[in-house]
Amino acid sequence: MNNLRFDNAFIRELPADLEFGPHQRQVEHALFSHVTPTPVAAPKLIAHSAEVAELLGIDAASIDTPFFAEVFGGNKPVEGMQPYAANYGGHQFGHWAGQLGDGRAISLGETINTAGERWELQLKGAGPTPYSRSADGRAVLRSSVREFLCSEAMHHLGVPTTRALSLVATGETVVRDMLYDGNPKAEPGAVVCRVAPSFIRFGNFELPAARGDLPLLEQLVEFTLRRDFPQLAASGRRGDALLSAWLSEICERSAEMVAHWMRVGFVHGVMNTDNMSILGLTIDYGPYGWIDDYDPDWTPNTTDAQGRRYAFGRQAEIAYWNLSQLARALSPLFDDPESLHTGLECFIDTYRSSEQRNIAAKLGLSEYRDTDARLMADLQHLLHTAEVDMTIFFRKLADIDPAGPTLTPLLDAFYNEQKRHDATPAFDDWLARYATRLRENGLDNNERHTRMRANNPRYVLRNYLAQQAIDRAEKGDPGGIVELLDVLRRPYDDQPDFDAYAQRRPDWARNRAGCSMLSCSS
Ligand code: AMP
Ligand code: MG
Repeated sequence: MNNLRFDNAFIRELPADLEFGPHQRQVEHALFSHVTPTPVAAPKLIAHSAEVAELLGIDAASIDTPFFAEVFGGNKPVEGMQPYAANYGGHQFGHWAGQLGDGRAISLGETINTAGERWELQLKGAGPTPYSRSADGRAVLRSSVREFLCSEAMHHLGVPTTRALSLVATGETVVRDMLYDGNPKAEPGAVVCRVAPSFIRFGNFELPAARGDLPLLEQLVEFTLRRDFPQLAASGRRGDALLSAWLSEICERSAEMVAHWMRVGFVHGVMNTDNMSILGLTIDYGPYGWIDDYDPDWTPNTTDAQGRRYAFGRQAEIAYWNLSQLARALSPLFDDPESLHTGLECFIDTYRSSEQRNIAAKLGLSEYRDTDARLMADLQHLLHTAEVDMTIFFRKLADIDPAGPTLTPLLDAFYNEQKRHDATPAFDDWLARYATRLRENGLDNNERHTRMRANNPRYVLRNYLAQQAIDRAEKGDPGGIVELLDVLRRPYDDQPDFDAYAQRRPDWARNRAGCSMLSCSS
């Protein structure tokens, strides 16, 4: 780790909080506070991502050393690290929440790898910061396992995301009331080191805008363009033209991110504006979940069970709402607000074309036609009413024979025999329409197969799989995490030795806490 090279632009170029230490406070006219991680009793490495270590240029031999666990558990800074917590606000569940900030995330610094890429290292669960409010700044093992595994799983699925280098057990306990039902319990604690080119969120811009601090807002915009959007900054555009091109790019990236979520069946669960990355990366893995039986109304987040604001099928709409909040925060910097609308429209256009690309890719068509939207919508309706597993269905759809399609290759995907029986005639009709479309499309069977399997994963981080790995880890056995991480590295490959990870959610997991229901308590 001593070879890591740092270039801490965020804290070098932007205004700092003049107070030190982690005591709670409102931080005005500053974009971050200097704060150091609070050391933990007995840091021990549970798992790491070999790909991220390599990306950063961390030598494989150093990973199993006690020093590595000390550094990424927050006990020992290495030369060049300058830890800080960022100051941001956000809209939570549709309401302005004021200052939030990194309450339990502490950035260690921005490394530059040998390819010249910038990767910021950030510890989650590293102790209190000025933004912790009344909370402890810590994270429990279960939520850390979930963040660690999902970041890497999403990356390998081809979904833009923050990455995760390491998962370190702290040797300390953290008290949490997991279901908010008045039963707090001491749980093992952990620290994840997450990694991204930038951790700037929509909320970083919203806070100075809400406070009317335009000079600070302007400084942050200029910085973000320079550091995180260098091509745009160098494009020669100025004023509204530059801002509008920037907003368009953020909209495009966010639209592509959500379209990927919809393709793989990912539900973020807490799409507050403080959890939206300016780079269009999936960020802040909390009570997220994966679709088992197809249901656009499903949300894993028990805190959102009433409103279902962040349900699977609403994610595009919510991303757009969040982008509108960002646009509103940026509006004082525009001369002509019309340019803002041009930017926002990019979301709608990009999302529409990404959705069409998804339809064609998931159904194995060489190109999208307008009538395919109906074909997909009718299928989704059937999947929902007949309680069908999304991942298994699309994966196995590649195996049907366009010359004589039957439901046989798809039987594994059904959760309920009666519903399957009742829906069989409707599925047969749909399969006949689909087969006609495939024959018209004329794509060679092998080619169709390849295309479908590259877009419909066999392995996703089903909620119950993560929970099983967590149960083992809480008993001191990290084997489940390591094995799952390994399988999820190649989500589109068949991996016959790991069929167990590609099965339907078992009945026992249907309503079990951690498997289908998660709270924000983490
Ligand atoms: P989240 O819903 O995880 O995005 O968190 C919302 C806000 O609460 C962020 O400002 C977090 O930093 C803060 N927060 C969440 N959990 C904790 C914790 N255990 N300690 C301190 N701050 C926290
Ligand atoms: Mg957050």
